[in-house]
Amino acid sequence: MTPEIPSPLRARRRLLLGPGPSNVHPRVYEALGRPLMGHLDPLFLEIMDEVQSMLRRVFRTANRLTFAVSGTGSAGMEAALVNLLEPADEVLICVNGVFGGRMCDIVERLGARLHRIDRPWGEVFDPQEIGDVLGAHPGIRLVGIVHAETSTGARQPLAELGALCREGDRLLVVDAVTSLSGIELEVDGWGIDACYSGTQKCLSCPPGLAPITFSERAAERMAGRKSRVPSWYLDVSMLRDYWAEGRRTYHHTAPISMNYALHQALAVVLEEGLEARHARHARNSAALVAGLAALGCRPFAREGHRLPMLNSVYLPEGVDDADIRRRLLDDYDIEIGGGLGELAGRIWRIGLMGEGCRRSSVLRLLDALDELIAPTAGGRGRSAAEAAYGEIAPEAILT
Ligand SMILES: *Cc1c(COP(=O)(O)O)cnc(C)c1O
Repeated sequence: MTPEIPSPLRARRRLLLGPGPSNVHPRVYEALGRPLMGHLDPLFLEIMDEVQSMLRRVFRTANRLTFAVSGTGSAGMEAALVNLLEPADEVLICVNGVFGGRMCDIVERLGARLHRIDRPWGEVFDPQEIGDVLGAHPGIRLVGIVHAETSTGARQPLAELGALCREGDRLLVVDAVTSLSGIELEVDGWGIDACYSGTQKCLSCPPGLAPITFSERAAERMAGRKSRVPSWYLDVSMLRDYWAEGRRTYHHTAPISMNYALHQALAVVLEEGLEARHARHARNSAALVAGLAALGCRPFAREGHRLPMLNSVYLPEGVDDADIRRRLLDDYDIEIGGGLGELAGRIWRIGLMGEGCRRSSVLRLLDALDELIAPTAGGRGRSAAEAAYGEIAPEAILT
């Protein structure tokens, strides 16, 4: 007998409030279903141009070299490092969570000389501390740091780092996978030389592309390489020939449908406006945190450095992590994230990213947690969140 073919695709609508992916806007789903065109079709090339110009606006940069790498956020990280580093280059990576650690892994594989500084998870780096390391090691040519550490919920201030890097001939590489379009990010204003993101966090597009931008200084560093880029797929000198106007040389087949999706996701972002979008993330996070506090969940990341799109909180006393997260998923169709590494079973990571960052999502999650954690408390979590929204001007609240 031939085995049964499992033909129904068992994907269902969930409220995605984890560390990514986030819920997708209907316009983006619609874009994914549009007819394919060839990757050198003039109409598709126009779509690519539009993607590039919208990416420049979202990254707040005039960088010519701004495009989307094929692959998820990690491909953006690898593309930035593999193109800007050569063996034996000295590199400083700042690590206060999983993603800083991942940068170190890539740097070591490239045979570069790694200087690593660490902060406890949930904390952030002081620019002074980074300046001291750069002073002690004048040979450092590149500094890598994460803007929004999704593993901890900490928000790294960046405004002063560009100037520190420019005092020497050093490039500043910033991971903006989770931050892009959720909190302020100024690629040109802050002197960032390479910045990458991912489609699946605050851009609310499925995972699959990694927006990236390189400054002129970064482009010069790449042009001056003595060795070939060790990755063929991610070699920017070839990718730029495909993305740049005029040349359009075949390198690999662009993920056509994902570019359609990113095009519409960026249009949604720009129609809302970056400032309005940042404000929406801040408001909904404040209400969520108030609701969680009423349920006994203390914030994890350091006060004053908390991300609105990734709310990390300690579990309330006596609550079983795996049980609650499984019931949220099975009974309420809601996904939230657990802690990684040492934080497993101790914290939750609750994402309010892009489309998922709505008053309705906040209240739906708190209703579920009220039932699961405090069934006799009369909706304590929801009431606290509603009170917090009440302190915000009503016209400022988007449902
Ligand atoms: C999610 C994430 C990544 C990796 O992105 P993938 O899409 O999972 O490859 C890198 N850095 C940060 C800060 C992230 O949150």
